[in-house]
Amino acid sequence: MRDPILLTPGPLTTTLRTKTAMLIDWGSWDRSFNELTASVCADLLAIVNGAASHVCVPLQGSGTFAVEAAIGNLVPRHGKLLVMVNGAYGKRMAQAAEIIGRQVVTYETADDTPPDPRELARRLAADPAISHVGLIHCETSTGILNPLDQISGVVAAAGRALIVDAMSSFGALPIDVGSQPIAALIASSNKCLEGVPGMGFVIARQDALQASRGNSHSLAMDLLDQYEYMQKSGQWRYTPPTHVVAALRAALDQYREEGGQPARLARYAHNCERLVSGMRRYGFRLFLDAGLQAPIIVTFHAPAHPDYQFKRFYEAVREKGFVLYPGKLTQLDTFRVGCIGAIDHAEIDQAVSAIAQSLVDLGWHTENEE
Ligand SMILES: *Cc1c(COP(=O)(O)O)cnc(C)c1O
Repeated sequence: MRDPILLTPGPLTTTLRTKTAMLIDWGSWDRSFNELTASVCADLLAIVNGAASHVCVPLQGSGTFAVEAAIGNLVPRHGKLLVMVNGAYGKRMAQAAEIIGRQVVTYETADDTPPDPRELARRLAADPAISHVGLIHCETSTGILNPLDQISGVVAAAGRALIVDAMSSFGALPIDVGSQPIAALIASSNKCLEGVPGMGFVIARQDALQASRGNSHSLAMDLLDQYEYMQKSGQWRYTPPTHVVAALRAALDQYREEGGQPARLARYAHNCERLVSGMRRYGFRLFLDAGLQAPIIVTFHAPAHPDYQFKRFYEAVREKGFVLYPGKLTQLDTFRVGCIGAIDHAEIDQAVSAIAQSLVDLGWHTENEE
């Protein structure tokens, strides 16, 4: 029996090679571990073409820790953050800023609607106090792709700094911090890089990080201190997630062997096409317009049957070896299926069959079939 396939946005299914990279106990002060950290950071920077302009600061914890650290460090204590919100992760970024005590305003659009760059320009012109803008690149709560290119242009033209939560897009969708004006990009080990959870990182523009001295609200989340200590000693401040870093090293080796970002995107795009066409065959409807859908995670409307309950659906599909993800919309009954992880169209096809068979087993199939 194989492990269940995780059709979730992370933690997700990883390869055996990535898992076995964790079978060594590394000393956190050991030179070989320090080299491992340095090589991981160099690769992460290279993925977004940041070596000349940015630095990579890794941070212990899940992705949210890195988001909170980026906000707390880069937005000065008297700064003001505008967050574009069209889902749960945008809300979370705004909430983090509020808890840290930064002034924050939101520009909200519906869950299925990207922010309008002209409206953003208008809001920035109307409020000179806004120093920073926060954007969720792929809003994982639906899978919508927000227009990073246009937004970064608007923010730069207005003379503000852009902080991008690229948690669920980093490594799969093209991002180039060498040419796009982005002050900081945040991601983690366990999404499109296909590592295991436990490490976030911030790719920060060198001048923006240097200017952040004294901003941090927190000792453990002080990114400049983490960076300077690492530069000086090669070591992390405080216990590093050694096994996670080793697994990420192995995952990055496989990323490179696969062909880097274009190859990763191609595999996920193919997974997404197979998923969407397969699910449509069984009558499932997409929540988003296809043109707004990133090939990362797909939101489907729940089956129309009156007895439908996500929990029963989840259990039935889980028994067949696949793990679905609940929906995150308050108004509509939906569920989500991830396209990312160490899986390809074979697993996606099997997952679609498992979902279809589960509808039959539960007696929910008839009303939903086309
Ligand atoms: C996964 C994710 C996060 C971080 O979530 P954690 O559970 O803290 O790892 C933040 N933003 C987005 C867009 C995500 O997809």
